[in-house]
Amino acid sequence: MTAPHEINAARELIARTGETLYNRQLAHGSAGNLSIRLDDGTLLLTPTNSSLGYLDPARLSHLASDGRLLDGDPPSKEAFFHLAVYDERPTAQAVVHLHSTHCVAVSCLCHETTDDVLPPLTAYHVMRVGRLPLVPYFRPGDQALAGAVRKVAKDHHAMLLANHGPIVAGKSLRDAAWTYEELEETAKLFFLLGDRKTSPLDAAQIAEINRAFPS
Ligand SMILES: [Zn+2]
Repeated sequence: MTAPHEINAARELIARTGETLYNRQLAHGSAGNLSIRLDDGTLLLTPTNSSLGYLDPARLSHLASDGRLLDGDPPSKEAFFHLAVYDERPTAQAVVHLHSTHCVAVSCLCHETTDDVLPPLTAYHVMRVGRLPLVPYFRPGDQALAGAVRKVAKDHHAMLLANHGPIVAGKSLRDAAWTYEELEETAKLFFLLGDRKTSPLDAAQIAEINRAFPS
């Protein structure tokens, strides 16, 4: 069992993080969802039809590790892929999924290969995000998406759902949110640079970063 003061702190953290993401227009309307895995393996997740900008900490969905609702409002319809990520990534303690504009724009492009759909433009992108594989499109709520997410989550803490948006896992909600923000900034740079000739980091530079900052 997670101590009441710990679960309350996690509730407050989700509400505060949701509000800041919403206020900076990384989330809009009722799109996007956040979750934290508590020490006892249960999850706190944002409810269905809620706005990240106006979350009530007391009404967050508290789920068992198998997805059963323990208390709070019914969870986001996208809860199933949070569960899939936690299953595949034992070290993940939080998941951030948003529909931020530049990342969604990248998810709507035609990609020749799907193993990494953004160039390594900056060292911070390499350090925080690494590779960004594309997960094929599924209609909202299609549970088959869970299988596709599982396959990728085994080896990646960040991925991009086609025609939809990213899923990012982290060691904490702050870690996952900061990685998400780095990803959105890279997507923004990618469009800002447009057709200009760019100089992304090369394989040797990426290897050097990964040696200096092992994840
Ligand atoms: Zn979504």
